[in-house]
Amino acid sequence: MGNQKKKKGLDMQVITIVTVLLVVLGLGIYSLVSNLTGSSSAESVKQNNDVLTKGQPAIGSPDAPVKLVEFGDYKCPSCKMFHDEVYPKLKKDFIDTGKVQMHFVNMAFLGPDSMTAAMAGESIFKQKPEAFWKFYDIVYQNQQAEDKVWATPEFLTDLVKKNIPEVDVNKLSQDLKNNTFKSAVDSDNLLAQTHQVNSVPTVYVNGKKVDSSMKYEELKKAIEKELQGK
Ligand code: CA
Repeated sequence: MGNQKKKKGLDMQVITIVTVLLVVLGLGIYSLVSNLTGSSSAESVKQNNDVLTKGQPAIGSPDAPVKLVEFGDYKCPSCKMFHDEVYPKLKKDFIDTGKVQMHFVNMAFLGPDSMTAAMAGESIFKQKPEAFWKFYDIVYQNQQAEDKVWATPEFLTDLVKKNIPEVDVNKLSQDLKNNTFKSAVDSDNLLAQTHQVNSVPTVYVNGKKVDSSMKYEELKKAIEKELQGK
């Protein structure tokens, strides 16, 4: 009798502990989800902006009031189009004038050579941060068919050797051989995943996703809205 009572008491205790754990877990998941879906508070948008830009290659003034983030894949034809048609205008109007600082984050998913090109970009960024944007230019300028494996270590090192002499190509070649920057690309891909980036290029302006960023007028509107402070 006494034993049974004790057992019942113990059961209740276990149930209470489990309930408390579930509530704690529930709250944790709730705050995680509201962070990921970007609740509209200014603070969480700012936090989002910090998460997206931290440690990523950047072009433009660090003091620029607007931070733009592009998620891209060097093999994606739309990303080439963004590079060839939108980026030059963006650079002239906003980056070179100190209003926007732009960042690039990999979302490498279009084949094994997407990964190779992304790792090359990370290697160059680590070696010579200012040379990264030259790499960004030459890879898009020399992009080939999406269904072909072209961004091989040989192709990329050769391209860099011819166009960015300040980069140590032996170092680049070793980094590619050893997958030195695979984890850097993996963490970029994870960042894309947690921000529900499901196509490239995807552009964020001050932590907010921009629809139709391929249309320069739309992107310009989003930037100007931020410059006016809303
Ligand atoms: Ca990166």
